[in-house]
Amino acid sequence: MTDNPSSGRRAGIRTGRLSSAEIEQNFSDKYPPLSRPEALIEADRCYFCYDAPCTKACPTGIDIPGFIQQIRSDNIKGSALTILTENIMGGMCARVCPTEVLCEEACVRNSHEDKPVSIGLLQRFATDPIVEGDTALFCRAESSGRTVAVVGGGPAGLSCAHRLSMLGHSVVLFSRDQKLGGLNEYGIAAYKTVNDFAQREVEYILAIGGIEVKSGVSLGSDLPLAELQQEYAAVFLAFGLSGANKLGLPNEDIEGVLSAVDYISDLRQAADKGDLPVGNRVIVIGGGMTAIDIAVQSKRLGAEFVDIVYRRGAVQMGASRHEQELALTSGVSIRHWAQPTKILLDDRVTGMQFERTELNADGKLHGTGEIWSLDADVVFTAVGQTLAEDVLGAAAGIFEHKHGKLLVDDNRRTSEPGTWAGGDCIFGHDDLTVTAVQDGKLAAIDIDRFLRAEKQGDNAWQT
Ligand SMILES: Cc1cc2nc3c(=O)[nH]c(=O)nc-3n(C[C@H](O)[C@H](O)[C@H](O)COP(=O)(O)OP(=O)(O)OC[C@H]3O[C@@H](n4cnc5c(N)ncnc54)[C@H](O)[C@@H]3O)c2cc1C
Ligand code: SF4
Repeated sequence: MTDNPSSGRRAGIRTGRLSSAEIEQNFSDKYPPLSRPEALIEADRCYFCYDAPCTKACPTGIDIPGFIQQIRSDNIKGSALTILTENIMGGMCARVCPTEVLCEEACVRNSHEDKPVSIGLLQRFATDPIVEGDTALFCRAESSGRTVAVVGGGPAGLSCAHRLSMLGHSVVLFSRDQKLGGLNEYGIAAYKTVNDFAQREVEYILAIGGIEVKSGVSLGSDLPLAELQQEYAAVFLAFGLSGANKLGLPNEDIEGVLSAVDYISDLRQAADKGDLPVGNRVIVIGGGMTAIDIAVQSKRLGAEFVDIVYRRGAVQMGASRHEQELALTSGVSIRHWAQPTKILLDDRVTGMQFERTELNADGKLHGTGEIWSLDADVVFTAVGQTLAEDVLGAAAGIFEHKHGKLLVDDNRRTSEPGTWAGGDCIFGHDDLTVTAVQDGKLAAIDIDRFLRAEKQGDNAWQT
C-alpha cells in the first residue's frame, strides 16, 4: 500500500517553493515578546507561592516568583539579575525551554479551568533588554592565577566558562565550530531564535572577560586530552554529541536520505532560506525534538506532505505533547507504531517501506509482519545522536561510560581526576539547553571548590 496521495511522485527536491516573503513570515518569532502592559498583567497573575513548585521544576533553580515580583515593581535589571545569576542563558532558555513540561507544568495555575503563568515569556521580557542592551551585571572576582580548559562552546561550555570567570579563574575555551553557541547556533529551530539572538547572547557572556576563545580546534584530531590535563589546572568537557545514529538499513547513503541535524545546521546558517533545496514529499524517521523540528521546518520551507514515522506511540515520543501538537497544527502527519525496513530507490530515494510494530506481553517492541510504504523525495533521519568516535581518541577508555555517554557524579566530576563534564555528552538527564547550562554552572562551582582546596594542600579527588 502507498498511502500518500500519489500523483507526481517526484515533483522533486528543489529550491524556491515559496517566495522570500512567505519564508520570512513562516520563520518569524514563534512566540513574540510581551509588551510592557502585557508583562505587567501576566506578572499580576502569579500567586507568589511560598514553596514555589515552578522553581523546583526549573533545572537551574531560578527564583521564579522573585523575578516576577521584580517585574511587577518595574525592577527589570533586578529581575534579569535574579534569572541570569542562576542561568546565564536565561534569554535563550526563555525561547527554547519546553516550559510546558518544566516550570509551567508545575505552576499551581495550570489546570483545566485556568492556564499557567507564562513564565517563559516573562523571563524573556526581563532578560532581553539586558542582553540586547549589553548591560553588564556580572564582574570577575580577584584573579586566582589558575587557568581552566573548557572544551566546547555550547550552552554547557559557555555557562561553565562564565561562572569560572566570575569566580576569578582564567579560561581557555576550545571549540570545533567557528561560531560559539553550539546547538543554539546550529541546531535549535530557526523560528525559536530569530535575529541572530544566539550570537548576541554569546557576546554578552564573553563580555565578562577572562575567557580566551580558540575556535576551529577539535579535541581528538587537533588536541589530545592528555595535553590539556597537563597544561591546565582543570578540564571541563562539553563537546556535545556530534555523531548521528544511523537507521542501519542498506542504501542509507543514497541521495535524498539526509541527517536531520545536518540539514537543520545548513538551514540555521543559510543567508537566504529560499536557496535551500526542499523536498515535496518528506518522511522523517524519529520521535524526538529533532524530528518535530525538521518536520515543521520542512513544512515552513514549502514541502507539501510531511510524515513523521515513529516506532512507538505518542506517549513514548521524546518530543513533548506540546511539540507534537505544534507539528500536527503545522500540517505534519505523525504515524505511530511503525519501523523502517527498506529504503525504496531508483537513482535516488523514492520512498520508505515500514513494518507495523507493537509491544508483546513482556513490553518488548516487535514487528507484526504487516508492511506498508510511503513515497518520498526526501527522508530525514532523526534517530538520536552519539558521542563522536574520534573526540576522545585513545583517552575514551579511561572514562566510565553508560549508554555511550560519560558518567559523572552530582558535581559533574568524571572518573578521571581533574576532569569534569556536562551537557549532552553526559549520562543522566534530558538533553536540553537548560540542563546543559546547569551542568556548566555546577561544574564551575565544584572546580572552584577543588582548586581552592588544592591551594590549601588538599588535592584529593573523590567522586
Ligand atoms: C535539532 C535540535 C533541536 C533542539 N531543540 C531544542 C529546544 O528547542 N530546546 C532545548 O532546550 N533543547 C533543544 N535541543 C537540545 C540542546 O540544543 C542541547 O541539549 C544543548 O545544546 C547541549 O549543549 P552542549 O553544550 O552539551 O552541546 P552542544 O550545544 O552540542 O555544543 C557542543 C560544542 O562542542 C564543540 N565541539 C564538538 N566536538 C568538539 C571537539 N572534538 N573539540 C572541541 N569542541 C568540540 C562544538 O563546536 C560546540 O561548540 C535541540 C537539539 C537539536 C539537535
Ligand atoms: S507556581 Fe505559578 S503562581 Fe506559583 S509562584 Fe510559580 S509562577 Fe507564580
